[in-house]
Order: sequence, then C-alpha cells, then structure tokens
Amino acid sequence: QPVIVAIDGPSGTGKSSTSKAVAAQLGLSYLDTGAQYRAITWWMVTNGIDTDDPSAIAAAAGKPDIVSGTDPANPTISVDGTDVVGPIRTQEVTSKVSAVSAVPEVRTRITELQRSIAAGAEQGIVVEGRDIGTTVLPDADLKIFLTASPEARAARRSGELKGADVHTTREALIKRDAADSSRKTSPLAKADDAVEVDTTDLTLAQVIECVVTLVEE
Ligand code: C5P
Repeated sequence: QPVIVAIDGPSGTGKSSTSKAVAAQLGLSYLDTGAQYRAITWWMVTNGIDTDDPSAIAAAAGKPDIVSGTDPANPTISVDGTDVVGPIRTQEVTSKVSAVSAVPEVRTRITELQRSIAAGAEQGIVVEGRDIGTTVLPDADLKIFLTASPEARAARRSGELKGADVHTTREALIKRDAADSSRKTSPLAKADDAVEVDTTDLTLAQVIECVVTLVEE
C-alpha cells in the first residue's frame, strides 16, 4: 500500500523545503498544492479576469489546464502547456492567490486534480498545502501540521525574497494567513489527528528528520 503523507501549515514554516526533502529521502512523489492555486491565479490575472469578482473567477475556474510534475528533485507546473514555475511566484500572484483560492468552484476543481494525482502515485506521495489533512486526503497515513512564530516565518520569507523588508513581508504574510484561515470552504486548519510540529527553534534538517521518523514509525 503506497504511503500518503499530508503536510499542512501557514507559509514560512518550511513546508515546501521539508516536504520535498522527505519525499526525496523516502523515494516518494511530491505535490505542492499551493503552486496549483498560484497557477490558476496566474491564469486569471493573465486572462484579464477580475480577481475581486468571485462570480467571474467561478465562471472561469474550469478553463485552464494545470499539470503538476511530482518529482521532488524537479517539481514542475504548467498551465495550458506553458511553464509557470517562475511567474507563479511574483508579488502580484502572491497578493491575489488567497482571493482566488477562496472561490468554491476553484477549490472543487483543484481538489479533484490533487486526489487524482495522489491516487496515481504508485510509490506513495507527500502532499503539502493548507487543507490536505482535513479535506483533500482525510485518510492520509500521516498528517503533519507545521507551525512557527510570526517573526520566524517572516524572517524565513524575507530571506527567500532576498532583500525584501521583514516588516512588509510580515504584514503581507499575516494578511494572507488570516484570509486563508477565515474562508468558508476548507480553510487552513489542523486536522484532529495531525501531529503538530513547531519549527520556530528547529533547523530545517531537524524538521526533516522529525517527519521522516514519523513516516517510518
Ligand atoms: O503554499 P503557498 O504559499 O504557495 O500557497 C499559496 C496560496 O494558495 C495560499 O496562501 C492559499 O491561499 C492557497 N492554498 C490553498 N490551499 C492549499 C494550498 C494553498 O488555499 N491546499
């Protein structure tokens, strides 16, 4: 039986780095569900859809064809055949992704995609996101919920964004988490049976080791 690992939590907790490394170490596939929400947001922006209009987003939700590569050493993502690995990380997409992700038609579409990818992963898979343990894969073999203090999360994100102001990053991050946590359809949440790991005072290597140990138990 292929192992399914769900890793959820807010941004800046080391979710992506941890999930990729755990998948690589254990020979599992890897799926970044945030990248899928970013990809559909990128498509909306590129096609002139008003991201402040939920009904316009809902009407267009079925249009883009999103394809995710699940190799943890090279996680690819394309929309209608265009590689969007770079474009989905812009500030514009980041600032609009919460609004697009809150639209139920978007979540239904992306959730179906995620379930079919997980079902097709013969060696098993690590799936990272916000609602994987609660909604997408409630029967996952192991559920991890990563947390960290707002200061630690902002510092990590500013480090990634090279030169970005910590305070601006912190405000944007808090705003996005609040939007992700308060939306009506499958908000960012810890599943009752998830193991919570506070990464504030841990190195990335320690977090990876902790999760690998939990999978192997
Ligand atoms: O993980 P990342 O920061 O790239 O996710 C971008 C956004 O995608 C999140 O802020 C959230 O709005 C949305 N998302 C979601 N559900 C998931 C993963 C991401 O709504 N499972």
